[in-house]
Amino acid sequence: EETYPKPSTMRVIAVANQKGGVGKTTTVVNISAALAEAGAHVLVIDMDPQGNASTAFNVEHSSGSPSVYDVLEGRMTIGEVRRTCEDFPNLDVIPSTIDLSGAELEIAGIEDRTMLLRDSIADYLHETGEHYDYVFIDCAPSLGLIVLNALCAAHEVMIPIQAEYYALEGLGQLMKTIGLVQQTLNKHLIISTMLVTMFDRRTILSQDVYDEVKKHYPDIVLDTTIPRSVKIAEAPSFGKTAIAYDSNGAGAISYREAALEIAKRSEHVLKTISAQKSAQ
Ligand code: ADP
Ligand code: MG
Repeated sequence: EETYPKPSTMRVIAVANQKGGVGKTTTVVNISAALAEAGAHVLVIDMDPQGNASTAFNVEHSSGSPSVYDVLEGRMTIGEVRRTCEDFPNLDVIPSTIDLSGAELEIAGIEDRTMLLRDSIADYLHETGEHYDYVFIDCAPSLGLIVLNALCAAHEVMIPIQAEYYALEGLGQLMKTIGLVQQTLNKHLIISTMLVTMFDRRTILSQDVYDEVKKHYPDIVLDTTIPRSVKIAEAPSFGKTAIAYDSNGAGAISYREAALEIAKRSEHVLKTISAQKSAQ
């Protein structure tokens, strides 16, 4: 068993892709579970009104229950809405409810409306002295104000790419948005990681997609790919991550491997972020 190095400072990673169904949520819950299982202290912030990450962690997220919605609108602190995942004691979750779908409009008039999440996290860490090794933010498939809050709170973006035809289509829009955020709201943001998901070893297409991603983004795409697996897909219906539900399955093993790669790249990524900071 290889040990997972802990990052020297907290990594805040927004998992984003405005395409739906590419594996954002599945990646967030399984990478964070794998890191927590290996001893890291992890916070997951569910920023999708669908609350799929909350479902996979089996935390209450019915309409009206305390959630990231209350945090963004200033009614509650991160500490007040935080839940601990029953399968992974090192893993805390900020759930999301369908109420978040209204927040887009409700926060539009607030000054600093893009910094609400960033400031809430900073306040919470400052007031409690809490430390996390990793904070993962699961984004909705959009490029709206809620996703902007995630991109402003994050230091890095991780982009899951589904191994399918047209995988790179639409990536341009995401890159453009991230570029705009880098120029204006969050100059320290970097795209640190890409992960190819739903990889099918039997098809040439999957390998072609991987090669294409590798050609365009050689420094950030992980060597590990995530296979298409029924167990990965059915785990959330049991309120489980694949790491807990099918611990020895191919899906869990791949997500552990990807998590290990992410952990090992920590110092390189942190260095890139500070280089970006001092270049400003
Ligand atoms: P997103 O958050 O980008 O919308 P999800 O993580 O919810 O995407 O994944 C979309 C669908 O594909 C879900 O039903 C999920 O269970 C399924 N899925 C994700 N990754 C895999 C995989 N590696 N193998 C099989 N099904 C997967
Ligand atoms: Mg999702």
